[in-house]
Amino acid sequence: MARLAQTAGLTDVQQEILSTVRDFVDKEIIPVATGLEHRDEYPQQIVDGLKELGLFGLMIPEEYGGLGESLLTYALCVEEIARGWMSVSGIINTHFIVAYMLKQHGTQEQKDHFLPRMAAGDIRGAFSMSEPGLGSDVSAITSKAVKDGEDYVLNGQKMWLTNGGTSSLVAVLVRSDEGHSPAETAAAPHKSMTTFLVEKEPGFGEVRPGLTIPGKIDKMGYKGVDTTELIMDDLRVPADRVLGGATGRGFYQMMDGVEVGRVNVAARGCGVARRAFELGVRYAQQRHTFGKPIAQHQAIQFKLAEMATKVEAAHAMMVNAARKKDSGERNDLEAGMAKYLASEYCKEVVEDAFRIHGGYGFSKEYEIERLYREAPMLLIGEGTAEIQKMIIGRRLLEEYRFQG
Ligand SMILES: Cc1cc2nc3c(=O)[nH]c(=O)nc-3n(C[C@H](O)[C@H](O)[C@H](O)COP(=O)(O)OP(=O)(O)OC[C@H]3O[C@@H](n4cnc5c(N)ncnc54)[C@H](O)[C@@H]3O)c2cc1C
Repeated sequence: MARLAQTAGLTDVQQEILSTVRDFVDKEIIPVATGLEHRDEYPQQIVDGLKELGLFGLMIPEEYGGLGESLLTYALCVEEIARGWMSVSGIINTHFIVAYMLKQHGTQEQKDHFLPRMAAGDIRGAFSMSEPGLGSDVSAITSKAVKDGEDYVLNGQKMWLTNGGTSSLVAVLVRSDEGHSPAETAAAPHKSMTTFLVEKEPGFGEVRPGLTIPGKIDKMGYKGVDTTELIMDDLRVPADRVLGGATGRGFYQMMDGVEVGRVNVAARGCGVARRAFELGVRYAQQRHTFGKPIAQHQAIQFKLAEMATKVEAAHAMMVNAARKKDSGERNDLEAGMAKYLASEYCKEVVEDAFRIHGGYGFSKEYEIERLYREAPMLLIGEGTAEIQKMIIGRRLLEEYRFQG
């Protein structure tokens, strides 16, 4: 069953981690995912299991209690988890981005304070850039921080926080105009942004003085994981909770986090597509029309061939993007391409598996119905297809600059 999406050159440790995660997905996630999703129920038991496996600390360095694994190991685990249920990979993803940002950009005190408890899964992270009026255009952020004594006072509204309710640490990007005139801010809006590390109680309502998480946004898919707004009304945050200790670096820190997040979304696309293929190829051999299994009709075989080819291509690009980052090289081009291709292919593979199911694909009794509602989220999260193409295009023009 595992012919597709193989990865050459993995170490014994990587293979062992992957096989443990695959086993967990088959036994603990797939049998319950669709029921939980239909009830929009948070998968507490699954999250507890992932904590036990050490998944929340997979990429956190060993000195902070994590497993110190590579982005590739992480991405391959995410692929397996998304194959079981995409929402579970969403629970890990924002946590992983915040831990990564802390590891790369945090002060020593911030790392010591947060990373060990993040590795244990006791503190869980969410990250917040989007606002009601903007998602793609991050430079247009309007939420603001103003210095007041030893604190900053934050005001504004944020939108679309994955894990907004269940997290206890949110990395929030706001504008902080310290030392910048309005003209300077207008000329270089990226340089007047700061990431704050905001600790809060998990839950909804006023979770800390000045900070409200109103409730879950009702979504078409990607259920189980909570997605919320966040409202800051004179929220006081101490100056030592500025990520990295200095204001004005937030945009670059967030973009660094999103870049590895893109590999994660590509991996999710690979996992969901692989599951859709598995469901399609199984159903095609069970269902008979005109006296034979539909898999014996050439039109269906061609569909299966196209689906499997897309699963392979997306996996190869995702692995390439992760390895590039692990080697210490810039991977924005590869991550953008992998995210773009894997999310588009995922949508197409899911659609084909849905069509193979005929009318039954429309029934909530069949898993493909859930996947059909999940795949579109991947076209949007961590930057839409249009934004990926802008990144890819800009980078290509840098690489292939005309020297005439
Ligand atoms: C379920 C879910 C979870 C999310 N989780 C998080 C999270 O945890 N944290 C967070 O910060 N955000 C999160 N987001 C927000 C997500 O990142 C944004 O929705 C996404 O970046 C798109 O922004 P937007 O919705 O404002 O669309 P817009 O930016 O308004 O774009 C609308 C359309 O215009 C296109 N477009 C925009 N600009 C251009 C351009 N220059 N050229 C061509 N086309 C363009 C877009 O591609 C899109 O098709 C989440 C979103 C969803 C749906």
